[in-house]
Amino acid sequence: MRHTFPCPRCNRILKRSGDLIIEGQAVTLDTFQCDECMGEFKIGNSTFPTAFTFVVDADGRVLNHTTLKPL
Ligand SMILES: [Zn+2]
Repeated sequence: MRHTFPCPRCNRILKRSGDLIIEGQAVTLDTFQCDECMGEFKIGNSTFPTAFTFVVDADGRVLNHTTLKPL
């Protein structure tokens, strides 16, 4: 488990904000949020600002927290 990780956008050191547990897999990914780098999420036709969120896998790769694809 990582407690800190540099933001891939601004390099600020972020504190781990939680776990992402993938259903059906014995995998827990460390989740980080950078509130300096805003992202957005969509519900229907509306877009809402949110803190930039990403997860880090066991190999240290930075992944999108919803698609689990490398950023
Ligand atoms: Zn950032």
